[in-house]
Amino acid sequence: MTTNDELFARAQEVIPGGVDSPVRAFGSVGGTPRFYVEASGPYVTDAEGNRYIDLVASWGPALVGHSHPEVVEAVVAAARRGLSFGAPTPAETELVEEIISRVPIVDRLRLVSTGTEATMTAIRLARGATGRDLLVKFSGHYHGHSDGLLAAAGSGLATFALPGSAGVPEPIAAQTLVVPYNDREALEAVFAAHPGRIAAVITEAAAANMGVVAPDPGFSAFLGDLARREGALVISDEVLTGFRAGRSGYWGVLRDAGEVTTPDLLTFGKVIGGGLPVAAVGGRADVMDLLAPSGPVYQAGTLSGNPVAVAAGLATLRLADDEAYARLDRAASRLAGEVGSALTEAGVPHAIQHAGTLLSVFWGEAVTGGVRNYETAQRQDVKRYGAFFHSMLEQGIALPPSAFEAWFVTAAHDDDVLDQIVEALPAASRAAASA
Ligand SMILES: *Cc1c(COP(=O)(O)O)cnc(C)c1O
Repeated sequence: MTTNDELFARAQEVIPGGVDSPVRAFGSVGGTPRFYVEASGPYVTDAEGNRYIDLVASWGPALVGHSHPEVVEAVVAAARRGLSFGAPTPAETELVEEIISRVPIVDRLRLVSTGTEATMTAIRLARGATGRDLLVKFSGHYHGHSDGLLAAAGSGLATFALPGSAGVPEPIAAQTLVVPYNDREALEAVFAAHPGRIAAVITEAAAANMGVVAPDPGFSAFLGDLARREGALVISDEVLTGFRAGRSGYWGVLRDAGEVTTPDLLTFGKVIGGGLPVAAVGGRADVMDLLAPSGPVYQAGTLSGNPVAVAAGLATLRLADDEAYARLDRAASRLAGEVGSALTEAGVPHAIQHAGTLLSVFWGEAVTGGVRNYETAQRQDVKRYGAFFHSMLEQGIALPPSAFEAWFVTAAHDDDVLDQIVEALPAASRAAASA
């Protein structure tokens, strides 16, 4: 048998940090990442043969459970017909129609392969549509790893951002302005400081990459009204929340709560590929029609709309019916309740936050009043999470390896699976208490 330690050591010789995406390296919780070899329903199995109940779900896509037989069958059938054609296929239109049926404010949608491409294209479209250059983003929101989005807040609210990564040129970061989330005054100030120059505001529909931080009631509608008055577009990034937070994404969660929002552009990813690489950018017809070949804004992709990936996405969305969302909702609510009780019982200060069926736990005294922005999220006590995480892992429950990530249930997390998670909570909570 090859151990996780051996696999990690070998990977580190040839892959930077031993991983193909940074969070997988366990850097913020310590220890050795598990190398998975199999996944099914709510479970993942590592190379040592240990099976875990999974609360990462591939960071969202495994909405109906890992390797759902109908999804796998659709993938195999599509693969038999052809792996890639580099030409349009009927299924692409079906997937786009399925997405539009869930979010009818989308008139047109183009498929790409990653969320990073989707947001990059949305920004180019917004600049093409407005003839303006500046972009406003919120602190702690993640939109993929393109240069202009790896930007850190400058010294004042209305000052240009600084590079958020080595290798990002200052002039590119300086096209971005970073403001605190859920802060109406900061948003007004940034527009006042740069009149007629802001092309778009990009926002996660509900923030879920700094832990889960939903928009305050009315904030998304306020943002839309302000941007419209100022001649800027709103890009709502639903790459994570889309068809995970609810049947119509977080747009639908807001709509069901009576808050009407009409972002000009929306981006999707994760769930719409069902575990294979599919993402999308969509929105108003007049803006989307600026894309090549119908318009002057260039975008392309050799594997965009790949038939095997599209088959996985379509099969997943077809399984994601009201009943599946009811199961997800039940699992997320019960999990949140049980985690909250166990932590309270053990005397661990915390806050649990939701956005539809997404949830996350914030740790420590500084966050017990709730978290509305990145500044507060960063005050959490991450060492408590590290202790909790490792106790859960030893007991066969795989949580996200960072306190700043959302927890993901699947429709396969039934009561028996949740019972097993609940059994592990007291010991993990005591570990967090003594950390
Ligand atoms: C994951 C994510 C992205 C980036 O998607 P990739 O497919 O990893 O490039 C963009 N925006 C949000 C909100 C995400 O959660």
